[in-house]
Amino acid sequence: MILLRFKRAGPIEISDEVEGLLRQYRQREGQNEMGGVLVGWQRDVDDTFVVCDMSLPSCEHKAGKMWFQLNPIFAQSYLDRVFKASSGVICYCGFWHTHPEENPIRSRPDRKVLSDLFCNGKLNFSWQLGLIIGDTGKIYSWCQYEDGTCEQAVCIHNSKAGNSPAINRSTSAIQLSFENFSRFLWGKSRKKPE
Ligand SMILES: [Zn+2]
Repeated sequence: MILLRFKRAGPIEISDEVEGLLRQYRQREGQNEMGGVLVGWQRDVDDTFVVCDMSLPSCEHKAGKMWFQLNPIFAQSYLDRVFKASSGVICYCGFWHTHPEENPIRSRPDRKVLSDLFCNGKLNFSWQLGLIIGDTGKIYSWCQYEDGTCEQAVCIHNSKAGNSPAINRSTSAIQLSFENFSRFLWGKSRKKPE
């Protein structure tokens, strides 16, 4: 797993599964950018936020060689499914996408995607994580804060297996009991599932 240290957002852990998926979907010659949303949960024991899953690339999103635009309805339905399957434990925490470059770095539009969500969405936290995977597998990360500022992580690779629940994609296998998080919403507020 990868441990990202942020002064303001605190420690954020990227699970092995998410790291593997990011590398698997890195942009290859001739492909368009790909992306999706990131989800995770707050581990109370050590106050670390764990990014445990991400939505997979889909042709529902719009993209070109050097741009990517998320389909909000598609992303929301993934988030709703995860939220429900985890009994409200796992929720939206950020956005991932690919760049056709070896050393990825956030662009102005990348920052805007996240800062706009603070205005148009209803988020769980005062931060969102941005992850960009370069074409050789390098991962760039930053936190976008509600006040418009950004922070780049100090990244620590850790081979030790993280203590995070994996999402079973076919069943609602997660049986952890945590305080419910409000779920991520795009636009109009909706009722929380029972
Ligand atoms: Zn980008």
